[in-house]
Amino acid sequence: MDLSRHYTELAHKAHGINDGFYPLGSCTMKYNPRINEKTASLDGFTGVHPLQPESTVQGCLQVLKETEEALAAITGMEAFTFQPAAGAHGEFTGLLLIKAWHRANRQPRRTKIIVPDSAHGTNPASAVMAGMTVINIESDAKGCVDVDKLRELCEGEEGQNIAGLMLTNPNTAGLFDPNIQEITRIIHDCGGQCYYDGANLNAVMGIARPGDMGFDCVHLNLHKTFSTPHGGGGPGAGLVGCKEHLARFLPGKTVKITGEKDGCPVYAMEKSDDSFGEMKSFYGNFLVVVKALTYIRSLGAEGIRQASEGAVLNANYMMAKLRDKYDIAFDTKICMHEFVMDLSSLLKETGVSAMDIAKGLLDHGIHPPTMYFPLTVHEALMVEPTETESRETLDWAVGVLRQLYDTAHADPQALHGAPVTTPVRRLDEVGAARHPVLRYTCAE
Ligand SMILES: *Cc1c(COP(=O)(O)O)cnc(C)c1O
Repeated sequence: MDLSRHYTELAHKAHGINDGFYPLGSCTMKYNPRINEKTASLDGFTGVHPLQPESTVQGCLQVLKETEEALAAITGMEAFTFQPAAGAHGEFTGLLLIKAWHRANRQPRRTKIIVPDSAHGTNPASAVMAGMTVINIESDAKGCVDVDKLRELCEGEEGQNIAGLMLTNPNTAGLFDPNIQEITRIIHDCGGQCYYDGANLNAVMGIARPGDMGFDCVHLNLHKTFSTPHGGGGPGAGLVGCKEHLARFLPGKTVKITGEKDGCPVYAMEKSDDSFGEMKSFYGNFLVVVKALTYIRSLGAEGIRQASEGAVLNANYMMAKLRDKYDIAFDTKICMHEFVMDLSSLLKETGVSAMDIAKGLLDHGIHPPTMYFPLTVHEALMVEPTETESRETLDWAVGVLRQLYDTAHADPQALHGAPVTTPVRRLDEVGAARHPVLRYTCAE
């Protein structure tokens, strides 16, 4: 009983999407329909073993195939691997795919990868893990890729060493790059491949496709856009999709239709001779795929598009209601699924930082936005409301943020001391990182 109470007490101290607003930018903390859990817990999906004969798991293979087809239609790709367990793992996979392509084309010297400074932090990290050298390219004043700088780099001597480009679009400032097709053309012209970080597809699914923008491969975070609960450490899935020319290098096995029996397709798993290897055992986190297919099927093509439209509308609604008080980074007129507030001038005027405002939000039961990211904005708060929040919630959250702005001017000290209503007060974050306490000590 004591153990059970201990965990229940801990659960009450945590903040999840079911407790309140959770506008954590670049994370898509949206409502995950319960029916996803219901289908993923069906015996036919949980009681199987990956080494069972294929003839006895036809339904599971059908789930993989139909998910692949749906995601191919959404992204404009041809084939997917289900193995990667997370977004960063997908990036690593995609880069190894690009490496395999260059190796097959006898271009092993192509080891440099261009990553814009607005990229998610995992991008350069994955590139280094894949044995590549990162070339950072600065954003222009609008927060997008500086096309002139990119052209100069790719048309110069360095062009023949370029493996490709990693890009997030919309980028981490919530902006859709207006030059996207020009960018991918420049990379292809110098012999590189284009990798799309599709962790946050929430702004574009059903509307725009990475394949049509000129990308060769993409990873998707099923645990963000396609509605698997996350934030608690997994399991997730960072599927990687690619165009035809890269498909033979994909890791692990992919599902093929090999014939027909009693009017139904017969599914089989096949590994290509050119596959670069394995990223994870068997088919990755299969039940996450079941949830994604349930989500896609229950929304339908129309609903998928509406989800994106709602996400973009909600972000723009909040941004419009805040911009007379808070500065919006890059003077963004219209954002995608998220927007970035720049609190540098608030800090200068009042001494109240992005951190203080984030802590103030905790006292109102709101999970803080993503802080101090993207790195290109100094006092950044990155807000992603998602499509599953009601207008009432958005209005209320806007009211709280406006009130905190006023408090910053009237009584800055109050915000330096926030939070005051949470189970623990302001934490020593540097101390926690340098000297982590990893064991629970029972009370005397
Ligand atoms: C979340 C995210 C990732 C990393 O995904 P993980 O599943 O946390 O590894 C990569 N890129 C972008 C843009 C993201 O938002």
